[in-house]
Amino acid sequence: MSVMPTRGVAFRIKGELPPEARFLLDEFRLAVNGAIRVGLQAKVTSRNALTKLAYKDFREEHPRIYAKHLVSAFEVAGSVLKNYRKRLRTGDASRVPYVRRLMMKTENQAYQLDRGRGVVDLPIRAGCHVMLELEVGDCHRRYLNDHSLRLGSLTVLPDRVIVAFRKEAPRPYAPESALSLDTNEQSIDGVFVKSDEAKAIKTDYQEISIIQQRHHDRRRRLQKKKAHDRRTCGRLCRREGRREHHRIEYRLHQVANAVLSFAECRKSAIVLEDLKGFKPTWNKELNRRLSFWPRRKLHQIIEYKAQWRGIPVVKVDPRNSSRTCPICGSIQDSRMGTEFECGCGWHLDRHINASLNLLQTAISKGLEVAGGLRFNPGAFQHDVMMILYEPAMAARSELNGTSCVGAVVS
Ligand SMILES: [Zn+2]
Repeated sequence: MSVMPTRGVAFRIKGELPPEARFLLDEFRLAVNGAIRVGLQAKVTSRNALTKLAYKDFREEHPRIYAKHLVSAFEVAGSVLKNYRKRLRTGDASRVPYVRRLMMKTENQAYQLDRGRGVVDLPIRAGCHVMLELEVGDCHRRYLNDHSLRLGSLTVLPDRVIVAFRKEAPRPYAPESALSLDTNEQSIDGVFVKSDEAKAIKTDYQEISIIQQRHHDRRRRLQKKKAHDRRTCGRLCRREGRREHHRIEYRLHQVANAVLSFAECRKSAIVLEDLKGFKPTWNKELNRRLSFWPRRKLHQIIEYKAQWRGIPVVKVDPRNSSRTCPICGSIQDSRMGTEFECGCGWHLDRHINASLNLLQTAISKGLEVAGGLRFNPGAFQHDVMMILYEPAMAARSELNGTSCVGAVVS
């Protein structure tokens, strides 16, 4: 595997943006929007095709910016066009794309970062460079000082820059135990299994659906109140959307950190269900209520952070995992309450049961979970549950950050 996990780190720019940099942002936006038009007309989306078609003209139209920036503009336009094409295909095409916000992106050959002083040297054109002084906090220092991290692209916005740090993906460790997790609307629960140890694990993020509901209601109210003013309504709704997004992502990151620290301390492989097969229904109301977004996002965060930290993750087909009895193998037809019950006498928390099935699937498929792992499902029936995350933790700044201890409750 030669994938390189990348992490974008945002730095505020000290003071005002120099006028030359401002000029570059303006020119870049013009070039991106111009390239989008070219791409739409010629029906192409790749950077190379755009470069071939438009480079010469653009070079004449934008003589006062570095040629490499133009190529980056083609790349940005290309990804905007690809997204637009995807939206067209899925049927929810919006307006013809147009980039409003001021931004520019550049690859690592086209800028320099003084990691000691925290200064970006950004070339505008031959003989004209601007220096952007960055605000560097402790967290930024960690990235700047770690020289195993290489520099990737740089994104410049009017008030901040985003530096992509790349890392050679560490080889995942050989797992000594398994942490199998079933992801739900309000929790991610499962089992931890080691040769001599077995534990049921719970997290509870029901506040995420509460936040979603609350923001949904607020948007509804805004739409009613501002029905006469579509622009204001749109602006306020987008603001609500951004806030909702931040609140939810913050919590998802905390949940992911709790899960990953737990797994890392115990050298576990993480087993997750493969959510790819899930298709949203067309019923709008149901779609919103059962939104898969947080679940998918949580998996993305877990997978990506696991890759960064060298924690192995395996994904298994979740088919029937919530309806199968791990003891006798029979499949129940009906939806259950909070307990899974089977005619053979087996009963267990529904989510824990599903995670047991995921683990069994992973083991039976011979996936690299942990060599020769055997476990007795009965152990989970009367065991205490370990809570890795609960709503109260959202208020704390760091949860289980580096420690291995979680609260144990019965
Ligand atoms: Zn059974």
